[in-house]
Amino acid sequence: MRIAMISEHASPLAALGGVDAGGQNAHVAELASALAADGHELRVYTRRDDPDLPVVTPVGERTEVVHVPAGPAAKLPKDALLPYMAEFASWMADDWRDYAPDVAHAHFWMSGLATVTAARRHDVPTVLTYHALGTVKRRHQGADDTSPAHRIGYERELGRVADRVIVQCQDEIQELVRLGVPRARMTLVPSGVNVERFRPDGPAAPRGERPRILSVGRLVPRKGFEDLIRVLPEVPDAELVIVGGPADTYGRHLLTLAEQCRVADRVRLAGAVPARDMPAWYRSADVVAATPWYEPFGLTPLEAMACGVPVVATAVGGLTDTVVDGVTGDLVPAHDPRGLGLTLRRLLGDPTRRLGYAAAAVDRAVHAYAWPQIAARMSAVYAGVAAIPAVMA
Ligand code: UDP
Repeated sequence: MRIAMISEHASPLAALGGVDAGGQNAHVAELASALAADGHELRVYTRRDDPDLPVVTPVGERTEVVHVPAGPAAKLPKDALLPYMAEFASWMADDWRDYAPDVAHAHFWMSGLATVTAARRHDVPTVLTYHALGTVKRRHQGADDTSPAHRIGYERELGRVADRVIVQCQDEIQELVRLGVPRARMTLVPSGVNVERFRPDGPAAPRGERPRILSVGRLVPRKGFEDLIRVLPEVPDAELVIVGGPADTYGRHLLTLAEQCRVADRVRLAGAVPARDMPAWYRSADVVAATPWYEPFGLTPLEAMACGVPVVATAVGGLTDTVVDGVTGDLVPAHDPRGLGLTLRRLLGDPTRRLGYAAAAVDRAVHAYAWPQIAARMSAVYAGVAAIPAVMA
């Protein structure tokens, strides 16, 4: 099949670990690559945010990343991109005169707007993955939510006009049903993990004697790093290593908090790390802690599981699907410092339990989340909306 994939702010070629570059970039890159490996042809459309970027960058044999000129060729926060989506749609629709995709898969609601607009001109079937929802963001961030004013209304409408909505976890289904998107329009296909790269064997980042708790993510408050620093006094001896960027005022705030909690000697900010080095960081840890206040899917716990590392996670969003409580890791309620401290202390003090979790975690990652099978599920969805028999798709 010929697939157009649209990811307006999250380029599959971007460096990860910055404020607006994380899970969606990795997801789009991996999904595209797994679909191409399966014989599909892909064009991934993303906004041109640097004047030096060529319009088309070939990636591998059957994939091209297309940098769409829409708005200034400069980095902009994703919440500032809505005014450029009409231009994005019109450029892409012109491109489809020649490319003629069988299906267009939009990632994030703004891509959804551009995609349904362009798709109408050429009668292309559309698939939408939200990745994050305005209702959830508003609930947790309140006045700090910088999303454009009508995001929630757009998301509701897109859920009704896209030919198929891909949901990534059970929690997202509930949120969308509450929003007014009919359940029958949704298909659950979780994100995957690259189990060739994220595997238990291989080099590990250097470490000392202290038990290591690793936490990975963009340095933004909702990832819950502050909660981890606050409970560290309850977890004697352990060090907390935080991987992610950007290194700005929030990073300094975390270090000040560590001083106030008298654990500065046990907290280390490693900064943003290139994606290729991530497996080694996971392997260096005794436990990976993922303690966001909310999380649409959450790739980092899954990557840790694939590397054979037990996970302590907050029971929110996609984490309640990926982490099996008491089997591959421990789930704790969000904002429960007592529970979090106790769980980390207990797990770090119990090597047998960690070994059991590690083995089950690798097994679950490989059998339920490896990219080839996730891509196969996705191409079955594409074949369905494009009305192409699955054997030919
Ligand atoms: N990541 C990375 N370098 C970093 C921090 C994160 O490569 O310094 C990657 C990480 O391995 C994962 C992604 O960024 O693939 C983060 O995805 P997740 O779904 O956990 O969070 P999001 O950024 O989508 O909120």
